[in-house]
Parts: sequence; structure tokens; C-alpha cells
Amino acid sequence: MEVRLLEATEDPEELVCKAARNDYMAEFVGETPFDEVMASIDGESLEDKQETLIGHLLDHGHFGPFEHPQATFAVKGISRSCMAQITRHRHVSFDIQSMRYVSFDEVDPEDVREGEMVVTPPSATDPDWVGRNQKSGAVGEETAEKREEVFQDAVADAVESYQELLDLGMPPEDARFVLPIGTEVNMVMSMNVRMLMHVADMRAAADSQWEIRQMTEQVLDLAAEWCPITFEYYDEHMKNRKNRLAP
Ligand SMILES: Cc1cc2nc3c(=O)[nH]c(=O)nc-3n(C[C@H](O)[C@H](O)[C@H](O)COP(=O)(O)OP(=O)(O)OC[C@H]3O[C@@H](n4cnc5c(N)ncnc54)[C@H](O)[C@@H]3O)c2cc1C
Repeated sequence: MEVRLLEATEDPEELVCKAARNDYMAEFVGETPFDEVMASIDGESLEDKQETLIGHLLDHGHFGPFEHPQATFAVKGISRSCMAQITRHRHVSFDIQSMRYVSFDEVDPEDVREGEMVVTPPSATDPDWVGRNQKSGAVGEETAEKREEVFQDAVADAVESYQELLDLGMPPEDARFVLPIGTEVNMVMSMNVRMLMHVADMRAAADSQWEIRQMTEQVLDLAAEWCPITFEYYDEHMKNRKNRLAP
């Protein structure tokens, strides 16, 4: 999988601070220079002051100002299973690659066996991998090899059948019914900083599934470059806390 930042609000943390200070200023924030907006906040430099204010907002649960900056991520090659999980979040906007208009008629089923087009979960090959609700613990090499074989056969057969149905004139929107839930999909998703923290609370958590956790960690890395003060605070003080209903 790959996650890239497509677009994001410029100066997101200046925007958070302006929005928050608006609530407590007599002057109009729209015509006040940023250094004056921040004049009453503790700190030597403007950056120190932003750090003070953002820390204060997050510490006190004043999350509204974090709804103003927005980021758009392009995500490549997650499974349809992972896509189903992330699209449950109602304050995130999505565009999902269509299986009605994009058909996988050029893919060689032998390459599917090697990991193309369908995501291979680590448990298909790693004997030591222990996932949630797994009946056994770690397994021997022989069992892991058998698992890999069964997995590869199943996904390659599914893609072969899909292509055969296309050749028999079935529309892609119907032929796709035989494809595995691990079939890869690309998507674009946009959310604000508050929502990003909420998604991270739920999907970077230890009980979250490995694939959505991996994707969320990549989103968090990009968010840390985009909003460094906020996500440093999030990482140090908020990440891995027990999920809150209204973060
Ligand atoms: C480990 C894990 C396992 C899961 N297992 C399952 C499962 O087996 N089956 C299943 O169906 N789902 C499952 N989910 C999905 C989960 O139940 C949520 O639907 C999903 O994570 C969306 O998050 P959210 O409820 O916080 O809502 P979001 O859409 O992310 O909304 C953010 C916040 O806005 C508020 N909000 C949004 N809409 C409403 C509303 N209509 N009413 C009141 N408040 C609202 C809530 O405070 C909410 O937390 C699982 C999630 C996780 C993390």
C-alpha cells in the first residue's frame, strides 16, 4: 500500500490558532495581523505561542478549531476489506476506484499468485503471525506453506473465473462478484484534523486490524509533517488512550 498527501490547507496550525483566538478577541480576526492575534499567548516566538495554544486546546478538549484545516490523501492498493472499514467514518469524504468502470482483464492470474491485484495478509505466509480471533497460535513452517498455497490458489482461481466471465460477455459490475474481498482498490479521502485524530484513535489502536492500522500510521506520518505541533502533541499525550466517544 502507499499513502500520499494530495492537497492540504496551507498554514493549518495558524488557521487553528486564528479560529480559536476568534472566540476570545474583541477585534475582528479577519483584519488583525497574526502576531497581534497571538499577543496574549505565552511564548517567546510565534511558534512557541502556537505550541502553547494548540497544547492548551487539545488538553482542554476544545477540538472545534481543528475542524478548519483539511487534508486529502491518495491511497493505493488497500484491500476492499480495509476500504469497507475506513468508509464507516462519516465525516470523511471518499472517492473509490470503481469496479464497474475499471476491469482487471489484463492481469495475469499467475501474477495474482505472486501478490498482484489481491492483498496478501501476513498470516498467509508468516508462521509466527498471530491475529485476532485466531484459533491456533503460531504454526509450523509446513502449515504456513500450505496456507500460502491455499491462499494463492484461491485468489488466482477467482481472478481466472472473473476474466472468463468477462470473456463470456458478463459486465464488469457483475463479474466482480466472484473477486475476493482482498482485491486491491485505490481511493482518495479528505478529512479535517479533528477527524484525523478520531480515525487515529480508532484505527491506529492495538485492537484495530493490521491493514487499516498500517494505513492509518502512514496517514499519521504525513499529518505529522503537515501539522507538526498538533501531531507531536497527539503522539505524546493522546495516542493509544482509551478511545473517546467524542474526541
Ligand atoms: C476495532 C474495531 C472493530 C469494529 N468492528 C465492527 C463490527 O464488527 N461491525 C460494525 O458494524 N462496525 C465495526 N466497527 C466500526 C465502528 O462501530 C464504527 O462504525 C466506525 O469505527 C465509525 O466510527 P464512529 O462510530 O466513531 O463514527 P464516525 O463516523 O467516525 O463519527 C465520528 C464521531 O461523530 C459522532 N457521530 C457521528 N455520527 C453520529 C450519529 N449518527 N449519532 C451520534 N453520534 C455520531 C460520534 O461521536 C462519532 O464517534 C469497528 C471499529 C473498530 C475500531
